[in-house]
Amino acid sequence: MTKERPIVWVDMDNTIYDFDAAILTHIPAELHVERANFHIVDDYSQELRTTIQDIYNAPDFFHGLHLIEGVKESWQAMIDAGYDPRILSAPVSSNSMSIEGKRAALERDMVPEFGPSILDDARFDKDKWKYDGVALFDDRPTVGVNPESGEAPWEHILYGWAHLSEVPMSRAAFRLLSWYNSKDTIRILDTVQDLRSV
Ligand SMILES: [Mg+2]
Repeated sequence: MTKERPIVWVDMDNTIYDFDAAILTHIPAELHVERANFHIVDDYSQELRTTIQDIYNAPDFFHGLHLIEGVKESWQAMIDAGYDPRILSAPVSSNSMSIEGKRAALERDMVPEFGPSILDDARFDKDKWKYDGVALFDDRPTVGVNPESGEAPWEHILYGWAHLSEVPMSRAAFRLLSWYNSKDTIRILDTVQDLRSV
């Protein structure tokens, strides 16, 4: 009998792909501010907001994003530890090419090492609560839950926001600051898994 591998959902923008870096490279360094809101546009004044929106609505924006350091190592560590990591990413409604771009980036960066199942298993949906799993790594401070039950099947592990010791807009009980040390990734998943099996 084979034991089912617990599914771990992983967001893309600002979780495994550096969305902010691709924006900030177009904004003069002296105008950069520390991230405080979930949406980067909300951290900037009106005139820069338009610039930022034009950048991420460009057809090739998502294809051009770069993988965050340590993602592949943590992805492999999750597989080695018996988990089934999968992509769960919300489309960006203002950019009609966002899903194609995200798929093309995964094809380039992840498929060569982890195989085409990365794309077969990926889900692109803003209603992340619809997908059963043990955990969801996501930089969004508050991830939407089932509006009827007020719950989600997975435990949200807040990714990133490393410059903030506390993320006041999040109620997530777990955080992962970086993929850099894959032991941290596995330790958090094992903790979540243990708590759920009690
Ligand atoms: Mg994100």
